[in-house]
Amino acid sequence: MDYFLQFIPNEVIVMHDLRLKGIQQTFFQLDTILLNKNFIVIVEVKHYSGHIYFDEGSKQILRKVNDVTEGLPNLLSQIHRQKLQLNQFLLEKNYPLVPIIALAVFSNPSAIIETKGLPTAQRSAIIRSEFLPEKLESLQANYSQVRFSEKQLHSLVSSLSESHAPEQLNILKEYQLSISDLKMGVECPKCNQINMVRNIKFGYWSCLNCSFSSKDAHIVTLHDLSSLVNHPLTNKLARQILQISSRHVVYRLLKHYPSPNLSQNLPHGQRQ
Ligand SMILES: [Zn+2]
Repeated sequence: MDYFLQFIPNEVIVMHDLRLKGIQQTFFQLDTILLNKNFIVIVEVKHYSGHIYFDEGSKQILRKVNDVTEGLPNLLSQIHRQKLQLNQFLLEKNYPLVPIIALAVFSNPSAIIETKGLPTAQRSAIIRSEFLPEKLESLQANYSQVRFSEKQLHSLVSSLSESHAPEQLNILKEYQLSISDLKMGVECPKCNQINMVRNIKFGYWSCLNCSFSSKDAHIVTLHDLSSLVNHPLTNKLARQILQISSRHVVYRLLKHYPSPNLSQNLPHGQRQ
């Protein structure tokens, strides 16, 4: 896909993987959007293999692979919704209205795509990735009216990237786990076993497996586990993670815990 994007005209700006706030606190995601002064193109790329065709009876896009036929999630209504949401975004930010063209792009060269039976408007929304540069040329010819000034276009690009809200992964939810499913305890930076005990009197961790000792081995563990469970690092959670029962000991450890921004740079340990 990125290979074909090399051939598009210079005046087109390409943005990838945007997640924006849509209507009623929902978010919408845009794989790729192409912007210029005349129009915006939403590109949703699918790498489906097999024979993809429109079934007039069920009004559904179907795919047949190895004699198995399945319905594909409704791609055309998905891109239509993205188009409406992006339009709403432009309205709210007071940008001039601009034609938005939504395309479903099939990138697997071995797939057979058949659009017979689809209404013309929908048919022209489906293309193979190698035709993307050509498609853009024809859009340039069709939408020749300039809608954005150079300044507005660049302001829109910064507004889009500033509004991008990365998804906070909730791994526990995704895998239907609870905190009790995770292996708690401090990981040894030397042998990677979760087998360190705190020498409370002298204030260090020592590994029961390889005897390595460390003053701050808990920092990486606290960071990894609290981000994994996507929960603020409270004293209670830290006691669970570090397997220390004393709230006072944990209080002292957390007092010297680096600020969240710093902790993002900590290396990630392996944890199962
Ligand atoms: Zn060790």
